Amino acid sequence: MSIDNLIANVIRADVRAAGAYVVPDASGFIKLDAMENPYELPAELRQELGQRLADAVLNRYPVASYATLKEKVKNKLGIPAGFDVMLGNGSDELIQIVTTTVASQERRASVLAPVPAFVMYARSAQFAGADFVGVKLKADFTLDMEAMLAAIALHRPAVVFLAYPNNPTGNLFAVEDIEAILHAQGEHGIVVLDEAYQPFARETFMDRVKEFENLVVMRTVSKLGLAGIRLGYMTAAPELLAEFEKVRPPYNVNVLTQVAAEFVLEHIDVLDAQAASINAERERLSAELAALPGVEVFASSANFILLRVPDAAAVCAKVYDARVLIKNLSKMHGMLANCIRVTVSTPEENSAFLNALKAALTQA
Ligand SMILES: *Cc1c(COP(=O)(O)O)cnc(C)c1O
Repeated sequence: MSIDNLIANVIRADVRAAGAYVVPDASGFIKLDAMENPYELPAELRQELGQRLADAVLNRYPVASYATLKEKVKNKLGIPAGFDVMLGNGSDELIQIVTTTVASQERRASVLAPVPAFVMYARSAQFAGADFVGVKLKADFTLDMEAMLAAIALHRPAVVFLAYPNNPTGNLFAVEDIEAILHAQGEHGIVVLDEAYQPFARETFMDRVKEFENLVVMRTVSKLGLAGIRLGYMTAAPELLAEFEKVRPPYNVNVLTQVAAEFVLEHIDVLDAQAASINAERERLSAELAALPGVEVFASSANFILLRVPDAAAVCAKVYDARVLIKNLSKMHGMLANCIRVTVSTPEENSAFLNALKAALTQA
């Protein structure tokens, strides 16, 4: 009996070949690599939340309908009247559910997204047994519509994922380009608009689910300030949502998440104010970065900034030595050579990053 043989016998070849999703240890670092909101809830709200959590019923399964949480999400987060939401254990799970719902053994499905894009689209497609088609963005990170429409006609993707704004580039795609993709997909395919950064972009396709039956609008509370509770939600035509619901594990959102989300949504103004100050810092940080010699800054509508430096590996190593964690994207895609992504944080943490970067640029 050898464990290597066991693995070779039972584990899928593509899973064996895959790398793990690596998350670096951040203890002792200023953490600017994961688009988290740096602000915690005010102390008095945390106190009150503590009481609510103490009252949570932990010995029972969650109420399967999630009716109260869904009502809160619909009322507080701008879901159009008459539309329901489906909840996920983070939007990562919703991405997985969408890809699983379209892929099957007898009918091989394709999943398409512009690249560079959020890595979970390709990963989820692969593990669901679907083909992933990546269509290169133009050099300015806008959609290459000629290539997109040609790839849609050729591959007939069951799903097109569009992050709006896009991660890791930070820009919003043009509304008319997204409309053209919705029309090109028509009754042959879904378009998932992933609005993870909507709290910062303040732009949305949410109301347009009324107009496009193939549109799914997906969001998360992670980037807004609740990454730890793992809650995503999505809206679409009721008939379509009903199909995805069959694939969702019945108790995928736990009771503690439910209680915490219901409580914080009652105080959504606190998170909105935090997002507004992050947006203001984004503008300051972008301007200061753009003034540095050799640094190219890309416009962002999200809570992170993409920049290009002369030598990303050297810069990231120096910034790391200064105990600031950022993300080197150089290896993610050829278009991102020497690009790094930094989360916009508090004025103090942003300044610490700026100082570390300035020092790194002069030493490099
Ligand atoms: C961060 C991110 C997500 C994941 O959100 P979770 O709800 O935390 O799983 C989804 N889509 C994009 C584009 C993201 O950047």
